[in-house]
Amino acid sequence: MRIVVLTGGIGGAKFLVGVRAHARAVGADVTAVVNVGDDVRMHGLQICPDLDSVMYTLGGAHDPERGWGRVGETWVVKEELAAYGVEPSWFGLGDKDTATHLVRTQMLTAGYPLSAVTAALCERWQPGVTLLPATDDRVETHVVVDVDGERKAIHFQEWWVRYRGELPTHRFVFVGADAAKPAPGVLDAIAAADVVLLAPSNPVVSIAPILAVDQIREAVVGGSAPVVGVSPIIGESPIRGMADKCLATLGVAVSAAGVGALYGSRADNGLLDGWLIDSTDDGTEVPGVPTRAVPLWMSSEETTAQMVRDALSLAGVS
Ligand code: GDP
Ligand code: CA
Repeated sequence: MRIVVLTGGIGGAKFLVGVRAHARAVGADVTAVVNVGDDVRMHGLQICPDLDSVMYTLGGAHDPERGWGRVGETWVVKEELAAYGVEPSWFGLGDKDTATHLVRTQMLTAGYPLSAVTAALCERWQPGVTLLPATDDRVETHVVVDVDGERKAIHFQEWWVRYRGELPTHRFVFVGADAAKPAPGVLDAIAAADVVLLAPSNPVVSIAPILAVDQIREAVVGGSAPVVGVSPIIGESPIRGMADKCLATLGVAVSAAGVGALYGSRADNGLLDGWLIDSTDDGTEVPGVPTRAVPLWMSSEETTAQMVRDALSLAGVS
């Protein structure tokens, strides 16, 4: 069986741990198509937060408490940059992480596309799934906000890390998405997939920027593989992160029903053939989309693998 997962960073990485466990048990092949909308250049370094979250988590090197970055991280470079008074000072740049960014930036500068750089980094981390950036082109999520009495677009990282999303927020823009092409391997993986899963990632700033690449959306919506999404919302809040703030900006209810309807039914030019929701949300209805309620807390590899089996069963491919 071939499984394609569209994913953001931390939530998606946790989900992929379960996907990998299931895949190993049944001999399935997994390709993760990862959001690049959070990517940003800082201090001359190209930083890919979602690719790194997935790579470190699957490589067993992530910090489970902080959620992002490397376990056992130190912060000398960050302190030294601050001593020089260099901005941005609000961005967390760990020493171990910096080595990853240096390798990546050096390879990009030498002319390698991000997909090739990712494959090279993964030689060290052996994530056990194929990691593909959604695109090798620049797609960056910017956020239209009011700040200091002025309306402007700032990078998603600045919106979230610097301002904690606490600004009057009007919309999200995926800069570059119109002209972006899928990275090599993305369309082939979707075409060959037996099932496409949407990780319980942020629908607005993790999944949407992937699908903002037209050819990816067309391949998923027009493809033969069933598409099942896993809700990142349990009850009325995201488990972690900023999905509530993002959904509110779009006027979408922070609930499994709200996100399910945002993705929409495949029968109606939307995405979903099935929507997996948490047991506590049983009874949730999404027009045109079969739902199934199961425990969605990713508290261990085994519980997450069970979620994956439930998603595959809902897709009719288990
Ligand atoms: P980011 O790119 O690092 O923000 O991570 P993602 O976009 O991949 O995932 C963030 C989402 O993961 C948040 O909206 C959370 O609600 C969701 N999430 C985190 N832990 C869990 C969990 O245990 N179960 C479910 N269903 N969702 C989760
Ligand atoms: Ca992210």
